[in-house]
Amino acid sequence: MASSLTLARAVAQSLVAASSTPRPSRSVITSATVCAAPIGLRSSAHSSSSCFFAGSLAVNKLSPATRLVSVRAHGTGQIVASSNGSSAPLPGLPIDLRAVSAHHYAWTNPAIHTGKRAFIAGVADDQGFGWAIAKALASAGAEILVGTWVPALNIFESSLRRGKFDESRKLANGSMFDIAKVYPLDAVFDTPEDVPEDIKNNKRYAGSSKWTVQEVAESVKNDFGSIDILVHSLANGPEVTKPLLETSRKGYLAAISASSYSYVSLLKYFAPIMNPGSSSLSLTYLASERIIPGYGGGMSSAKAALESDTRVLAFEVGRKHGIRVNTISAGPLRSRAAKAIGFIDKMIEYSTANAPLTKELDSGDVGNAAAFLSSPLASAITGSVVYVDNGLNAMGLAVDSQSLVVEEAVKV
Ligand code: NAD
Repeated sequence: MASSLTLARAVAQSLVAASSTPRPSRSVITSATVCAAPIGLRSSAHSSSSCFFAGSLAVNKLSPATRLVSVRAHGTGQIVASSNGSSAPLPGLPIDLRAVSAHHYAWTNPAIHTGKRAFIAGVADDQGFGWAIAKALASAGAEILVGTWVPALNIFESSLRRGKFDESRKLANGSMFDIAKVYPLDAVFDTPEDVPEDIKNNKRYAGSSKWTVQEVAESVKNDFGSIDILVHSLANGPEVTKPLLETSRKGYLAAISASSYSYVSLLKYFAPIMNPGSSSLSLTYLASERIIPGYGGGMSSAKAALESDTRVLAFEVGRKHGIRVNTISAGPLRSRAAKAIGFIDKMIEYSTANAPLTKELDSGDVGNAAAFLSSPLASAITGSVVYVDNGLNAMGLAVDSQSLVVEEAVKV
C-alpha cells in the first residue's frame, strides 16, 4: 500500500502541474491506468504483480482557475494531491506540463530537449513521421541531424534550399527549425565492404560518399562528438504490394534488411557515441501482430522482427550503454512510403470509421509522442511498443461492418 500511495502521489504531482493548461472540453480525461514497476521491489519475480490501478483522475469542466484535480490512491480513497489551478512553479518536475498546449509542437517552456542532439534516419521530405519527429524534437530544443536515403538526397537538399519546406519548418513560436546537417545514408549497408559494384556504379549514388551506417556514425562523431536521441524512421519493401504467398525470397529478405536489420545496425554503430541516458526509437505498424491484407512483401514480418528486436535491443543496449529502446506503432499516415503501398486512403478512412478516436492521425501526434519517449519524462520506459493510432489497435470489431447493420444491440 505504501508503494501504491507513493506512486499515486507522483502521478498526482504531474497531473496537478498539467491541470491549469486550457484544454478543449472534448479532451477531458476521465480515468487513467498506470502500469508501473513495483516501488521498492527488486526481484523480477514480483513483476507479474506490478500492474495495478494507480489512481483515478477527475478533471471537471470549470474554468482553469477553479478546476480541481484529485488523485486517489488505490483502495484507500485518500486524496494524495489536489490543486486549485495555482501557477506557482512545481519543484522536481523535469518539464512544466503547463507549457504543453493541446496544439502540436508547443513544447516550449522549458524546452525539455535543450542541449540534446538527435539523429533521425529516414527523412527525405516533410510528409512523413521522420520530419514530424524532427520538428517536435527541434521544438523542444534539440539540435537536429538527419540521415537521408542516398537516391532521395539531391531532391531533398535542393527542396530544403529552395524553401519548399519553409511552411512546415515553422514552429509554434514563429521561428523555423533548422537541420544542422543532412547525411547521405543507405541503411541496408553496414560498412563500405558490403557495397556491391552495381551500387557503387549506380548514378543515383554518384557524388555521395561515406553513406554506409558505420561511416555515417563515424562522420557524426567527427562532426559533433555524440548524440542523445536516435530515431529510425525508415522502411522499404520492394514487393510490398504482393501478398506474402507471392513474395519472393529476395523481396522478403530485402524488406527485413531495409526495415528491421537496419535498426540493429544503426544501434550497433551509434550506441558508442550516444551519451548516458540516451534513447532510441523506431516506427512500427499494427500489421506486425494483426492481419492487414495488402501490407505484403514481407513487410508485416519485418515489423514483427522490429518489435521483437526492440525488446532484445532494449536489454542489450540498456545493460551495456544505459540507452532506452522503444518503438511507436503508428496509425495510417499519407506519407510518400505509404502512398507507394497503394491503399493508404482506405486505411485512413477505415481508422476514422472504426477507431475509438475518429480524428485523422496527424504526424505531429507521433512527433509529440516521440519527444516524450525521448525525454526524461519516459526515463523508465524501454522495450515497449507504444501505440499512437487513435486507439485502433484496441478494437476487436469493425464498427462500420455491414455484418453489424442488423444487430442493433452492438451499434455504438
Ligand atoms: P516516409 O516516406 O516519410 O519515410 C520512409 C523513409 O525511408 C524515406 O525517407 C526513404 O527515403 C527512407 N528509406 C528507404 N529505404 C532506405 C534505406 N535503405 N536507407 C535509408 N533510408 C531509406 O514514410 P513514413 O510512412 O513516414 O515511414 C517512416 C516509418 O513509419 C517507417 O518505418 C514506416 O513503416 C512507419 N510507419 C508508417 C505508417 C504510415 O501509415 N505511413 C504507419 C505505421 C508505421
